[in-house]
Amino acid sequence: MTDRIRDFLRLRRPEGPCLVIDLDVVRENYHAFSKALPDSRVFYAVKANPDPAVLKLLAELGSSFDCASVAEIDMALAAGATPDRISFGNTIKKERDVAAAFARGIRMFAIDCVEEADKIARAAPGARVFCRILCDCVGAEWPLSRKFGCSPEMAVDVLEHAHRAGLDAYGVSFHVGSQQPNPKAWDIALKSAGDVFRTLSERGIQLRMVNLGGGFPAKYLRDVPAVKTYGRAIFTALRKHFGNRIPETIIEPGRGMVGDAGVIKAEVVLISKKSAEDRQRWVYLDIGKFGGLAETMDEAIRYPIRTAHDGDRTEPCVIAGPTCDSADVLYEKTPYELPISLAIGDEVLIEGTGAYTQTYSAVAFNGFEPLRAYAI
Ligand SMILES: *Cc1c(COP(=O)(O)O)cnc(C)c1O
Repeated sequence: MTDRIRDFLRLRRPEGPCLVIDLDVVRENYHAFSKALPDSRVFYAVKANPDPAVLKLLAELGSSFDCASVAEIDMALAAGATPDRISFGNTIKKERDVAAAFARGIRMFAIDCVEEADKIARAAPGARVFCRILCDCVGAEWPLSRKFGCSPEMAVDVLEHAHRAGLDAYGVSFHVGSQQPNPKAWDIALKSAGDVFRTLSERGIQLRMVNLGGGFPAKYLRDVPAVKTYGRAIFTALRKHFGNRIPETIIEPGRGMVGDAGVIKAEVVLISKKSAEDRQRWVYLDIGKFGGLAETMDEAIRYPIRTAHDGDRTEPCVIAGPTCDSADVLYEKTPYELPISLAIGDEVLIEGTGAYTQTYSAVAFNGFEPLRAYAI
C-alpha cells in the first residue's frame, strides 16, 4: 500500500470495487529486474496486467513484451513497442494468428512440438523460435501444469526439425511456476537447457538464447526473497551449467512486475453466521472470484486484506464474494483472520492485486460490472 494509492482512494472515493495501480511501483520493479539481471532482456508478460498505462510506461523504460495473442501484440505495439521487442510466447497458436503476427513484424515465436514448428515455418518463414521445456514447478504457489513444454530430449528433436524447416533455432525456454518462492528453482531447468544446447551443438546447431520465464513472486502474506537474490541464484546456475559460454538470456516477469503495484478497494456487504451455535462468521465482500480474484481458486493465492480495524482482536472468518455461484468463496478451507469489530459497510483493501485480477473479472456475471482500474 503506497501513499499515492491511499491519497487517490481518499480524494476520489471511487464507487464500487476497483483496482488502483501505482505506476511508480511498476517503475521501481522494472529497475529492480534490470539491476538484478543486468545481462537479461526483460519481456514483460502482458497477460499479468495489460492496462495501457502500464504497457506505455514499460515501453518507455525499454522493456520488451511477451504476448500470448494477436490482441496482446496490438496492445504492446499501441504502447510504443517496436516488433523486435515483442515475442509471441504462447505455444498454442492458430496458424493464421502466426501469419498476422508475422505481418506485424513479429519474428520470435515459442514452440513445444514439431506440429507448431511446422505452422511457424509456413506462416512466419525464417523466424526465430525457442522451444519450451517442461519444468516440475516444485514449490510454486501457482504451478503451471504439463500443458506447456516438452521433455528436454524431445526439445532437441523439435529444434532440429525447426532448423531443417528453415527457421532460426534460437533457444530454449521454461517457466518454473508462478509465485516461485525458491530462487534455486531455476537450477534444474538450466541443467536441462544446458543439455539441449550441448546435444544440438553436437548436431551442428548452435543455440544462443535461454528464456528464463517468469515466476518471480509478489509479496502476499508471506515474505519472499528480493529480486537480487533471484538474480544471484540464476547467475550461479548459468555458470554451473554453461561454464564460460553463458548464452543470451530473457526474463518474462508478470506477477513480479505488477503484483505489488495494485490494491483493490472493496466493501463488506454482509457478515452472518449459518446457525445460532455457529462460531464462524461469513464475511461477504462486493468482489469475489468472478470480480477479479480468480487466483483464490483452491485458495492458492492468499492476499493481505487490510481494514480500518487492524490491531483489534481477530477471529477466523470465511470470506466469500457477492455472486450467486457457490464456487464464489475465497477462503474457507483455511479461514482468514479478520477483526471482530469489522462491520457491514466497512471498506477493505486487498493488497498485492496488481497481477492477474482485472482481466480475470467476468463481463457481467449476475449483473456485476467488470472490475474498474485506475493507473495513477
Ligand atoms: C504467464 C507467463 C509468464 C509470467 O509469469 P509470472 O509468474 O507472472 O511472472 C511468463 N512467461 C510465460 C510464457 C507465461 O505464460
